[in-house]
Amino acid sequence: MLNIVLFGPPGAGKGTQSAKLIHAYQLVHLSTGDIFRANIKGGTELGTLAKSYMDQGQLVPDEVTIRMLESEANKSPDAKGYIFDGFPRTPAQAKALDQFLATKNTSITMMLALEVEEDELRKRLLLRGKDSGRADDIDPAVIQKRIDVYRNETEPVRDFYQEQKKYFGIDGIGSVDEIFERLCAVINSELSPDSYRDQN
Ligand code: AMP
Repeated sequence: MLNIVLFGPPGAGKGTQSAKLIHAYQLVHLSTGDIFRANIKGGTELGTLAKSYMDQGQLVPDEVTIRMLESEANKSPDAKGYIFDGFPRTPAQAKALDQFLATKNTSITMMLALEVEEDELRKRLLLRGKDSGRADDIDPAVIQKRIDVYRNETEPVRDFYQEQKKYFGIDGIGSVDEIFERLCAVINSELSPDSYRDQN
């Protein structure tokens, strides 16, 4: 299996690049942010709980997030691999993900980390807020909180994969296609390209 953690701060382009990568490599996209938003839209109990954290730019508790991610992954038992987008966001989530994948006799292949500086993130998120109307992209204080939470709680996840020699940093500045090519170059250099990439 090809299991990729697509990592980076809010606004780094994880969602945009995930959409292209799942197509190119025939992977299942698991975005915890998207799943929470679908629950909010559907008016579920999980959605109500998640919203109370998301609206403040805080992380939804690990236990809830891990359980949800596992049940979502179990919906695609025949997947050739997964892209984890916005997960893991804490070391506890990273450990839980390793344990979960081990029960399926697989593991994370690599972490691809999109690197974008803070000023650029703030600009991108405010712009996205205007277009998408995402509540957590509209208020500059909530945007700043999410960036701070990323630095304090999520960045340590990088060390977790660095210790496993699975970490790859990628310049996240440039056009969508340029960044996509950088991601593909790393993936292909780690894998035999013919076995995974859909060339058509
Ligand atoms: P995202 O769409 O990835 O930017 O996530 C939006 C919000 O959903 C975050 O600011 C968190 O409140 C919540 N969220 C998404 N993924 C996670 C996660 N792995 N752990 C905790 N909270 C999460």
